[in-house]
Amino acid sequence: MHVVAPTVRGLSCDHSLVPPCQAACPLRMEIREYVDLIAQGRMMEALKIIRDGNPFPSICAYVCTHPCEVACRRNQVDKPIAVRALKRFAVEFGGDRMIQLEADTTHTEKVAIVGSGPAGLAAAYYLRKLGYPATIFEANPELGGMLRVGIPQYRLPRQVLDAEVQRLIQIGVEIRTNTRVASLDLLFEMGYKAVFVTVGAHQSLRMGIEGEESSGVVDGATFLREVNLGLRPSVGSRVAVVGGGNVAVDAARTALRLGAKEVRVLYRRSRTEMPADKSEVEQALQEGVEILFLVAPTKIKRANRQLQVVCMRLELGEPDGSGRARPVPIQGSEFGLEFDTLVSAIGQAPQVPQDFRLRIGKGSTIQIDPVTLLTDRPGVFAGGDAVTGPATVTQALAAGRQAAMRIDEYLQHRYPASAKEARPTLGGELLPKTVELIRKINRIEPPLLPPDARTSDFRPVELMYDWKTAIDEARRCLRCGAGAEILFQDKCATCLNCLRVCPYDVPRLDGTGTLQIPPDQCLACGVCVGECPAKAIILRKPYDRRQVTEELEHALRSAAQSGTKPLLVGFCCQYGLFGTGTLAGLWKTATAGIWVVPVLCVAKVEAEHLLRAFEMGAEGVFIAGCGEQCARENTAQWMAQRVEKVRRALAELGLEPERLQALPMHAEQADGLRTVQELVDRVGTLCLTLALKQEVKH
Ligand code: FAD
Repeated sequence: MHVVAPTVRGLSCDHSLVPPCQAACPLRMEIREYVDLIAQGRMMEALKIIRDGNPFPSICAYVCTHPCEVACRRNQVDKPIAVRALKRFAVEFGGDRMIQLEADTTHTEKVAIVGSGPAGLAAAYYLRKLGYPATIFEANPELGGMLRVGIPQYRLPRQVLDAEVQRLIQIGVEIRTNTRVASLDLLFEMGYKAVFVTVGAHQSLRMGIEGEESSGVVDGATFLREVNLGLRPSVGSRVAVVGGGNVAVDAARTALRLGAKEVRVLYRRSRTEMPADKSEVEQALQEGVEILFLVAPTKIKRANRQLQVVCMRLELGEPDGSGRARPVPIQGSEFGLEFDTLVSAIGQAPQVPQDFRLRIGKGSTIQIDPVTLLTDRPGVFAGGDAVTGPATVTQALAAGRQAAMRIDEYLQHRYPASAKEARPTLGGELLPKTVELIRKINRIEPPLLPPDARTSDFRPVELMYDWKTAIDEARRCLRCGAGAEILFQDKCATCLNCLRVCPYDVPRLDGTGTLQIPPDQCLACGVCVGECPAKAIILRKPYDRRQVTEELEHALRSAAQSGTKPLLVGFCCQYGLFGTGTLAGLWKTATAGIWVVPVLCVAKVEAEHLLRAFEMGAEGVFIAGCGEQCARENTAQWMAQRVEKVRRALAELGLEPERLQALPMHAEQADGLRTVQELVDRVGTLCLTLALKQEVKH
């Protein structure tokens, strides 16, 4: 589906389309925006956007299942942007900054939250922000739900979780741990006006095979809970894990860390169907976990302190209700294996106390109204895994946020607000022809501990990007939905300039002879904006051509006040290390008055901008971009062409063309600053010569 934004709007507002990454995120995080800021080295601004959209970003920075990366359109070109790792960089770089901990109590109605997993934590956070007194009741000794008792510490360090939980206490959430709620009536008797039930899905499913109750057989949720609560269960040296999801992979890797020498995962389908995160599976294999595909246990017997497990081989048949190929037993394929421990991790379901008196549906999940999130009991809301069945942290966070809003509406007797997106979503895939023209740039994976350094303890396996790597990875973003549009069709003279200059061959004439720039194909390079003689094209976001002029005027006002001579204006790209490193050095070492006008890629500097700088009093002008390092096509070529055009105009006006220079520089190019200094010296000489000539004349 192509969604084209309306054609006449104010120039300054954001009329970009919601990109696929944002649409795929349960929290609707503004991913394109914060990735773009990271690409410019504006980490604190990126962090602000991240914190505005997610109350617990550090947690997601470690364990989010990143549906945004699955939806990322760079998948069609090479590999998706490493969004989760970039978020982690911004969050850890910024630390505690940008956190807003104020929350005034403006309402008297108390709200109870049963369960402290991500859904409960998010609901408590947003209810406090909305001004309600909120209390969390948690059966476990500590808060966090599966974040604490499910996900192993080598994937989510406990100090990260503790720091996030601590913030809830700081904003005034009342915490009651070691408190298992048995009846909701009691909570209403205690004066709570609304209850959010978010008890998760902690009941492990049974394999339904003979010998399942044997000693040495344990379910995945219990096994991980014990380890996470500080116990060190003895697993022996040979461990089997049954299942193919994240819990199974976590259990297998945890068993290795408890000292098991041989860990085998028994999975009934093939690797393609394995639902566990691909990179987690890869890491498990690196650590020495063995996966037996198309294998399932059929019988367990305990003898001689060993588990004798009869297994059977399977083959894939027709798709089942889940859409995946159904595993079909191969007759006569039975074989035996021996283990010390067998962990069954084939799934979980919610276990809702009967005395809650809530309507329970398929998969033991709580039934709710999808709009109000109310259960069949007045004042009782539910969300998270208890409603959806086992899902993800971000889904639970989103459910908690939504619940807080619905509870507010319920308590204030308002109708539920519509959750309609304010902006339309970008639809459609990149065409093969467009894909062909996009520069391939390798995805940079975050570094990992070497496999042999991982399994002796529970230290975090994934490490963090450094500054340079984070910026380089962020620059790969295609900025989907922020591209060009012909805003003023009446101004368009169909000169076909945009069609000629587009590096991605995107603009096209429709059947009526009108030029169109399909929003789902445009890559926001901005070349057509600069080359359109009628100025009929604009970029949806973040660039606005007026911004460059405003920045220029601001720079020249400051220059006039400083009085430094000669006065040079540099239009400098802000993307990449180039923007942050090289230009920062320029400020410090420059011997002349160099005034930088920041631009988001030099392709967006128009000939008029360059001429305007001279007109406003600049004695020399340079335009500096990252040359071949640019993630977009042909930007250096466009820069050179425009400079040549303006140089000719300068000559016609009687000014020396060499006052204007194009400087494509590499980020780490040591002589970049020297080139600028040479220009400064040259312009200085030209100014001196001109002054002398004028003196002679007089
Ligand atoms: P939970 O996190 O399950 O929290 C429910 C809480 O309610 C628990 O603390 C429980 O003790 C408490 N409770 C239950 N009954 C009562 C009661 N009667 N009274 C008081 N308290 C009660 N998701 C990801 O996105 N990324 C991952 O990498 C990931 N890895 C996972 C690994 C494992 C091993 C597991 C098990 C899950 C993983 N998940 C992952 C899924 C994710 O953790 C869950 O989807 C999420 O935690 C669900 O949040 P929730 O708030 O609904 O429930």
